[in-house]
Amino acid sequence: MPELPEVETTLRGLAPHLKGRTVTAVTLRRPNLRWPIPPEISRLLPGERILGIRRRAKYLLLDTEPGSALLHLGMSGSLRVLPAATPVAAHDHVDLGLDSGRVLRFTDPRRFGCLLWQAAGSTHELLMQLGPEPLSDDFDGDYLYERSRGRSASIKTFLMDQAVVVGVGNIYAAESLFRAGIAPGRQAGRVSRERYGRLADATKAILAEAIASGGTTLRDFISPDGARGYFETELLVYGREGEPCRSCGRPLQGARLGNRATAWCPNCQK
Ligand SMILES: [Zn+2]
Repeated sequence: MPELPEVETTLRGLAPHLKGRTVTAVTLRRPNLRWPIPPEISRLLPGERILGIRRRAKYLLLDTEPGSALLHLGMSGSLRVLPAATPVAAHDHVDLGLDSGRVLRFTDPRRFGCLLWQAAGSTHELLMQLGPEPLSDDFDGDYLYERSRGRSASIKTFLMDQAVVVGVGNIYAAESLFRAGIAPGRQAGRVSRERYGRLADATKAILAEAIASGGTTLRDFISPDGARGYFETELLVYGREGEPCRSCGRPLQGARLGNRATAWCPNCQK
């Protein structure tokens, strides 16, 4: 599943090809993805200039004067800018024609992604309850400490709560907790301010590293065969239960927390 670093890399790869371009046509090859595609997109977007593209959590917003196209890659979605004549393949559900002679093509085999519409001056309901961005200054140890008081959930479940902070999925939560030396099952409301400081720093560092490593794949967003794998960031605990800890050599433990698989080192994480 594309995580926040993949979405951020998608944004950076697409932005130079979209910003300032005018949408010439909208082609919807099916009426719905995860949710129905609002038909006004076909009516409102053609003729509009793309003022910018930005990310909020794992959503991408393509801003125009009447509103923003709101895109989510779901489990398997990808966005590429291609020459307009590129043949359409299975799962190529949406094309936005551009005045550059290219199309922005949305491909999504499993159709958990979405294309929705946010009218100018409004906030889509999907974006209303979201916590701060993990790479913003609003996200730090003090914020996590205050926010966690009275919470009995595990710290890993707490960190993955999109109302607490957006875009920290299962992989990055497990890796951040390892780097911060905090056991994932610890009760969120009982972790100290100082340890939350370390956790916020670890989360920011890991996401920033993943985004930096994604920079090398930027060219794929404009190649016709740009089906990408996921980032080759080195994972120290995620998916490694039973294997030796990279720090102390003892076997990592595995369990389910909040119904998600997790792995940690009982020696290095307390
Ligand atoms: Zn260890």
